[in-house]
Amino acid sequence: MSFTIDLRSDTVTKPSPEMRAAMAAAEVGDDVIDIDPTVQRLQARTAEILGKEAALFMPSGSMTNQIAIRVHCGRGEEFLCDADSHVYNYEQAAFAQLSGIVARTIQGKNGVLQLDQLVGLIRPQGDHLVRTKLLTLENTHNRGGGSIQPLAHVQANCEWAHENGLVTHLDGARLFNAVAATGVQASEWASHFDSISICYSKGLGAPVGSALAGTKAFIQEARRARKLFGGGMRQAGIIAAGALFALENNRDRLTQDHCNARTLADAICSIDGLHLQPEPETNIVIVRIDSKLGTATDWVQELAKRDVGVLAFGPQYLRLVTHFDVSAEQISTACKAMQDVAHSLLQGF
Ligand SMILES: *Cc1c(COP(=O)(O)O)cnc(C)c1O
Repeated sequence: MSFTIDLRSDTVTKPSPEMRAAMAAAEVGDDVIDIDPTVQRLQARTAEILGKEAALFMPSGSMTNQIAIRVHCGRGEEFLCDADSHVYNYEQAAFAQLSGIVARTIQGKNGVLQLDQLVGLIRPQGDHLVRTKLLTLENTHNRGGGSIQPLAHVQANCEWAHENGLVTHLDGARLFNAVAATGVQASEWASHFDSISICYSKGLGAPVGSALAGTKAFIQEARRARKLFGGGMRQAGIIAAGALFALENNRDRLTQDHCNARTLADAICSIDGLHLQPEPETNIVIVRIDSKLGTATDWVQELAKRDVGVLAFGPQYLRLVTHFDVSAEQISTACKAMQDVAHSLLQGF
């Protein structure tokens, strides 16, 4: 499906001519036998930005998260995560299917966990009990509507984890949105975690790819697991060049996406029967629809007729995501389309 204004996700972006030129010109090698030079440059630059010893390029964010969990935990061990997290909800429980690991979920508020919810969850040693090994957090939080984890919470939760013998992983698929919104550097966010994953193909606009970062020893193990999971990629410099271009050129402009999300949010607030849930902090807008305005499916269909793509996020919820390929002008058009749909659906009931 294709829409002139596609707000279904920030993954729908297409590489710009400049990015394609960088990809076409990429120097390549066999990254499975030893190393592809462009992949190597991308990994080194990513590690530098995140303040970690090493980074590893992978095809998807799901793979980076699942390999992090696998390397941190052994079979029959558990990790703690919030109940709405991507690692728990949207990755087919690969930690269980592929690695024999258990998740223990905690209900956060828009993905944010309070320290007092964690205290007491680490199981004591004993033959009856699974071993608690890892805490994972997500920033920004996808199901939480692009919410930013407050830095003080991240600090407190990770400090508690480390003091109690756990390791920590950050699903930072949209970490650069948190950086753009707060001014807190990526390396500062990452400093609280033993490992961190980021996506190049969300807000940064690359066609493919994610990275996992951590210590050299951790990344060596992750590289082994990547081969096991079928993620060894040979002349991957072609796609790594797109990711590197995105990393160098598209981080600063994320504030524009946040501005566009705010414009959408204001228009939504002004429509009787639509509610923001929660108030958007970055590039994701989640909308609750009162039944007098129909269902999420009605809205998806009506907006599609007006060439605007959005996703149903439950029977009465919509998700709209701003990104590189929607301009401020297109956002105004989308706002008008929403007002138009509200009018036509109200009359239909
Ligand atoms: C998109 C996303 C991922 C990874 O998704 P892939 O489609 O596997 O690349 C991981 N975590 C979060 C929070 C995401 O939004």
